[in-house]
Amino acid sequence: MIFLDAAATTPVRREALEAMWPYLSGEFGNPSSHHSLGEAAAAALAEARSGVAKVLNCRAGEVTFTSGGTEADNLAVKGIALARQAAAPSLNRIVISAIEHPAVEESARYLERVHGFAVDVLPVDGDGMVSVEALRAVIGPKTAMVSIMYANNEIGTVQPIAALAAVAREHGVPFHTDAVQAAGWLTLDVRALGVDALSISGHKLGAPKGSGVLFTRGRLRVEPLVHGGGQERAKRSGTENVAGAVALSTALRLSHAEQPEQAARVSELRNQFIGRILATVPDALLTGHRKQRLPSVASFCFPGTSGESVLLELERLGVVCSSGSACAAGSDAPSPVLVALGIAPETAQTAVRFSFTSTITDAELEQAAAAVETAVGRVRNLASPQAG
Ligand code: PLP
Repeated sequence: MIFLDAAATTPVRREALEAMWPYLSGEFGNPSSHHSLGEAAAAALAEARSGVAKVLNCRAGEVTFTSGGTEADNLAVKGIALARQAAAPSLNRIVISAIEHPAVEESARYLERVHGFAVDVLPVDGDGMVSVEALRAVIGPKTAMVSIMYANNEIGTVQPIAALAAVAREHGVPFHTDAVQAAGWLTLDVRALGVDALSISGHKLGAPKGSGVLFTRGRLRVEPLVHGGGQERAKRSGTENVAGAVALSTALRLSHAEQPEQAARVSELRNQFIGRILATVPDALLTGHRKQRLPSVASFCFPGTSGESVLLELERLGVVCSSGSACAAGSDAPSPVLVALGIAPETAQTAVRFSFTSTITDAELEQAAAAVETAVGRVRNLASPQAG
């Protein structure tokens, strides 16, 4: 099987598994316990936190471990907006982009529904790019926070985060970015990016599902969503997932070290793959930005098919991928991301996303491109046999 669904999840790296194993077995202590087992767990957690901080170029105290990307996004959007509003009730607007992951989009809608916030949604152009001018036009004295994703999970478009964050900074508004898909491929240096908050998910970069991180800058106040024993500097109560944090830190450190080489190699393979598909599959339409895109994502629409049928054919041919976001799987509605790009709903229904792990090879992608040509041809023939 050729696995081209890394944007949905990745296998746990052996190094991460080996690093976490002791904290699931012999060193099973609770980091809050005042005995040697507890202290060993607390030390491991502290080391994991420092490891993450090193990659993010931040202080260890600015790293909060969460149960994944969804929780990190919820904590950022709700936590920052509610804390800001508590300090200044006139702060009742938040800004997001039209192509956010549901973890951000639904958090914003929750604030609107339950806490009376207004949500300003920045449009994207046909490539999925948010414009700095659009943010400048909408941000104002009532804006409590801005959340714009670093790289999109369906089309791979990468936003100009440093420039967007600079606009928010000019207005003294905290800026959060969902870096779940960017992690492992793009810089996560929060000082260089100039962001105030950044989310990461472990399972997209070789750590287990259910591990995540939210960076929040210095004294930025965050209203907790989970109350209890005050762990994670009271930002996120609950006994810490020590093994998950150790695995995430290990996987993040390794992917960061490998990033320059892998990003260049996989970008090159991605370009070849895109070129092959566009050359061999009639009417194939690349979605997302041609250049400003994740090394790991190639996404297309194949008019005259249904994305789901192409996926089934591809799986028969030994290639596993996705029709878009795994989180929207099972839904018949066209992807809101593709619709936001201006793609017609009937074309959006034909979307297929190929996303690569850092170990993908040229041979695998060559085989996959041939399978795509066959699969799309078969589905189109079934749809209109006389045409074939
Ligand atoms: N944000 C983005 C951009 C994602 O792609 C995902 C997962 O697909 C998430 C957030 C949610 O992360 P998790 O699966 O760890 O909850």
